[in-house]
Amino acid sequence: MKLLGAIEAGGTKFVCGIGHEDGSIIDRVSFPTTHPEETMAQVFQYFEGKNVEAIGIGSFGPIDPVIGSPTYGYVTTTPKPFWSQYNLVGAVREKIDVPIGFDTDVNGAALGEYKWGAAQGLDSCLYITVGTGIGAGAVVGGTLIHGLSHPEMGHIYVRRHEQDTFAGACPFHGDCLEGLAAGPAIGSRWGRPAVELAPDDLAWEIEAHYLAHALMSYVLILSPQKIVMGGGVMKQSHLFPMIRTKLQELLKGYVQHASLTADIDSYIVPPQLGDNAGLAGSIALASMALAGK
Ligand code: ADP
Ligand code: ZN
Repeated sequence: MKLLGAIEAGGTKFVCGIGHEDGSIIDRVSFPTTHPEETMAQVFQYFEGKNVEAIGIGSFGPIDPVIGSPTYGYVTTTPKPFWSQYNLVGAVREKIDVPIGFDTDVNGAALGEYKWGAAQGLDSCLYITVGTGIGAGAVVGGTLIHGLSHPEMGHIYVRRHEQDTFAGACPFHGDCLEGLAAGPAIGSRWGRPAVELAPDDLAWEIEAHYLAHALMSYVLILSPQKIVMGGGVMKQSHLFPMIRTKLQELLKGYVQHASLTADIDSYIVPPQLGDNAGLAGSIALASMALAGK
């Protein structure tokens, strides 16, 4: 089987690995995201002599994933020091001469779950991560959604919970979804890290409220056949039933489909690829690049 390379480029850490076209991962390493030159030197060192036939990069964003655009392959307007306007694909291409697939980390994860995970055999799915930030990617008809750039579904506005007075923490929008419901927002609102809050804390009722509002918009706009929810905050597995129930309440039976009524437990699910979702996503991007797609 052909060897494929994967780079999961995160704002906190980079994970590199190699795998096969069936999504299996045979090796992985991880190192902190520091200065591009230092971090990329570690990437090149890892892939040296590995003879991969293609590389997939799932990156933190915003990025330019539009082939043909002058800044294709760049990390664009990130506030992360040193990485703004960094030509990530260009840097890899200079050292490793193989087809390169490049997309957001969440688009990669969506593709991985679609090909090998929770959405296998379906035509569409949405992957959302609730972690340091909130981001989502979607596959529709087997294709990852792009447009002007890539979707930014974490920054939509949601209806405020009536018991929530937290101003919101998004540096761009204040109380957008990410500003209200990402891990750091939970930490700031309650004065301690999300992981320390008890399962019956009001914090989770508010969290589920916001995430269910977001899912309602995604369901109404994209009609995905499966919603996969990952990221550190979703390790609180009691959120899943709360989100499912709230989504049903919000939709009020308007979208009549068994996935939203009788089968909602198998409609909104954790990543089947678990902690490998990101790396498997990058393998999926590599396999698309190899196929010339
Ligand atoms: P990243 O988004 O940087 O890739 P994570 O998905 O792990 O990383 O998200 C980190 C965020 O998730 C932090 O804000 C942290 O507080 C929160 N988090 C991590 N683990 C848990 C947990 N078990 N319960 C609740 N929140 C968590
Ligand atoms: Zn925002």
